Amino acid sequence: MKTQARVVVVGGGVVGASVLYHLTRAGWSDVLLIERGELTCGSTWHAAGGMHTINGDPNVAKLQQYTINLYKDLERITGQSCGMHVTGGIMLAGTRERLDWLRMAQARGRYLGMELEIISVDEAARLFPLMNKRHFVGALLDPIEGHVDPWGVTQAYAKAALMAGAEIVRHNCVLDLKARRDGSWDVITENGNVHAEHVVNAGGLWAREVGRMVGLELPILAMEHQYLITEDIPALKGQNEQLHCIDFEGEIYTRQERGGMLLGTYERAGVPWSPVTTPWDFAQSLLPNDLERIAPSLEVGFEHFPALGEVGIRKVVNGPFTFAPDGNPLVGPVRGLTNFWVACGVMAGFSQGGGVGLALSQWMVEGDPGADVWAMDVARYGDWATLAYTNAKVRENYSRRFRIRFPNEELTAARPLRTTPVYERLEAEHAVFGDYCGLEHPLWFAPTAAEAREDITFHRSNAHPHVAAECRAVRDGVGLLEISNYGKFEVTGPATQEWLSRVMANHLPPVGRIALTPMLNERGKLIGDFTLCRLGPERVFLICTYAAETYYRRWFERHPPAAGVTVRPCAMEYVGLSVAGPLSRPLLQSLTRADLSSRAFPFLSFRQVDVGMIPALIGRISFTGELGYEIWVTTDYQRALYDVLRSAGREHGLTLFGGRALNAMRIEKSFGTWAREYRPIYGPYEAGLGRFVDLKKGDFVGRSAALEEKESGGALRLVTFSVDTLDADASGDEPIWHEGRVVGWVTSGAYGHRAGCSLALGYIPVALAAATDGFEIEILGERRKATRAATAPFDPHGRRMRD
Ligand SMILES: Cc1cc2nc3c(=O)[nH]c(=O)nc-3n(C[C@H](O)[C@H](O)[C@H](O)COP(=O)(O)OP(=O)(O)OC[C@H]3O[C@@H](n4cnc5c(N)ncnc54)[C@H](O)[C@@H]3O)c2cc1C
Repeated sequence: MKTQARVVVVGGGVVGASVLYHLTRAGWSDVLLIERGELTCGSTWHAAGGMHTINGDPNVAKLQQYTINLYKDLERITGQSCGMHVTGGIMLAGTRERLDWLRMAQARGRYLGMELEIISVDEAARLFPLMNKRHFVGALLDPIEGHVDPWGVTQAYAKAALMAGAEIVRHNCVLDLKARRDGSWDVITENGNVHAEHVVNAGGLWAREVGRMVGLELPILAMEHQYLITEDIPALKGQNEQLHCIDFEGEIYTRQERGGMLLGTYERAGVPWSPVTTPWDFAQSLLPNDLERIAPSLEVGFEHFPALGEVGIRKVVNGPFTFAPDGNPLVGPVRGLTNFWVACGVMAGFSQGGGVGLALSQWMVEGDPGADVWAMDVARYGDWATLAYTNAKVRENYSRRFRIRFPNEELTAARPLRTTPVYERLEAEHAVFGDYCGLEHPLWFAPTAAEAREDITFHRSNAHPHVAAECRAVRDGVGLLEISNYGKFEVTGPATQEWLSRVMANHLPPVGRIALTPMLNERGKLIGDFTLCRLGPERVFLICTYAAETYYRRWFERHPPAAGVTVRPCAMEYVGLSVAGPLSRPLLQSLTRADLSSRAFPFLSFRQVDVGMIPALIGRISFTGELGYEIWVTTDYQRALYDVLRSAGREHGLTLFGGRALNAMRIEKSFGTWAREYRPIYGPYEAGLGRFVDLKKGDFVGRSAALEEKESGGALRLVTFSVDTLDADASGDEPIWHEGRVVGWVTSGAYGHRAGCSLALGYIPVALAAATDGFEIEILGERRKATRAATAPFDPHGRRMRD
């Protein structure tokens, strides 16, 4: 084994092998993979090898497409068979709701170029005769599903990497990882040490243990998973290979395996495996079968596919594999560590392994993953994702693997975990809460406790009239919203201005003022949107998306400020309440001696102001687009602030409102938000944020790419549509059609109660940006007429928030 390498990849499962191959393809050949047993001896060897392109996040779906298309190339390069069987697959719907869900999946696949087709039950039964038609109402056909040989795929990656100069060492366990001062690593193994510039944790079942070597507690957990293979089924004899089939109602998947069928299930009562520590003596091993546990699913399976129940069971496999709390992989560089990368929590190695390897290798070699990998970025989790939290969420995710996630559905596991001081007060006002990074925040308010629950649906829910009333109250009077669920940083020190000017695209506002700014990466793409609130010459309060706090911290570590500047995350130190609406000024004025008139405290002011007895930081800004104030206080004051506002608000008809109303109101104003409209695949001019990019202030990260985008106009445009729809609004990822062609996708949608119509934000090609007509948005399988709004649908000139 060499003693020096540019990269050491820990783990030779399908993911580690893919990372190794992709590193060589990206130009790094001094790369070494260390595997403690044989390649594939973790969860890879006993996998069912199934692959498919559909994923809840379109960007992950694209990487899945990439993976599946890669296998032919790998076979060509190496001569090693991947054992590909591209049979095509059908997903069966047993209810109308499931069929709606499949229609949504089909629609979302359109702009990814996926040729998915909704078919009738008869057509499904013709293609997959083993099914009992009685239980189904329709199906989705995907021509490029299938399965591969897990061992063959891993060997093919490994062989391709070896051919390009990589080295693989087997039967050698990595025992420890020690960071050197210069950011490089000593990799301590059973058979000697290696000094490496970078380390990749692709430890699969042991990724948690490898993480612990460097002080990390990665949010992953292995679950037991069982599939069985039947004896030969007479009806299959002499037939073409059967399609892959997913039966959502039975929560099972099935495919042909030689003369029989393989049937696997994601049972409701899933069982975690080794929840705290993974045993090191587990290699090429399986777990004892527990057919009892999956008996309810098998019963349904044999009812839905009778031929499977008529033959015996040849083999049962029970093996563990790992999941992150949301079921997507954990990939990327880890905040707080230098040159330490992860590629783990990959629950669908044969659909995702290639994409994970591609993204990670580009990230390491080019400094950027080359794709929008937010959905699988390790930085989407923060400190709240503890071992026990992960355990609860992974079990929930496993049990819901084949269940519908409705656009308005809030999951219940691990809740309530984090609450703000006003939680009980809001609960007493019948708040219906949502979960954001483990933090409870109000979505809407019901009139009575009995009504404080939301029906989950693809259509408008029982919340609709209440959200409408909240929006009207904000438009006509004053509303109160809890806004604690934002990320916050406090930047202080002599070179504050210099640093912020370098990492942010806009200039710093004068003291006492607010400026909005995008943050760009070197390619000039959006990696954040911030509100800069300047409290003093050397003190700036940053407000941003809370879910991206770790992501931003990682970025700030890469672009550190000069000595003497402190960048302090303080998200939960400051919690907030916002008042918005034309009566917000008289309400707040009644509680402070500070002059809040527009002359003394104009739009985008930010000051320290006492509200009653409470010292607060107040910004004159509101995401609702109304006159409004965001009031930030340290946690100990939030309850008192709430009480004083509620009590003074009585006279002004103060109404509580929640996140649903806020979302509808920001869409009416064509305001975007992180992870929906603002993502690293869009540039600031494409996203309509050009006015917040100051190209004249001197150099900043992403400036030259932003200038290029400005001059060329970019490729896309974020636009707003009003949609002719009856009772189902767009929710995101629906295709946008123009004159019979899919030209773009929706990023957010809601009913605009102030504008009085259904609305959607989305991206279309810049060439169509001037067109208003000829658009349609596909909602639940129906193409609905959509009209591009030339200006924001509500108060386009922003008079209400400025006056
Ligand atoms: C029953 C079952 C069925 C499945 N079916 C499918 C399917 O149909 N389709 C699909 O896509 N996925 C399926 N999976 C999931 C699939 O197996 C995983 O997605 C995949 O194997 C993950 O690969 P990995 O490389 O991340 O992890 P692993 O395969 O666990 O590889 C990690 C490797 O790292 C090595 N290692 C760990 N620590 C060290 C160390 N300190 N030093 C040296 N080496 C180390 C281990 O020995 C191991 O070989 C299934 C899983 C199971 C259990």
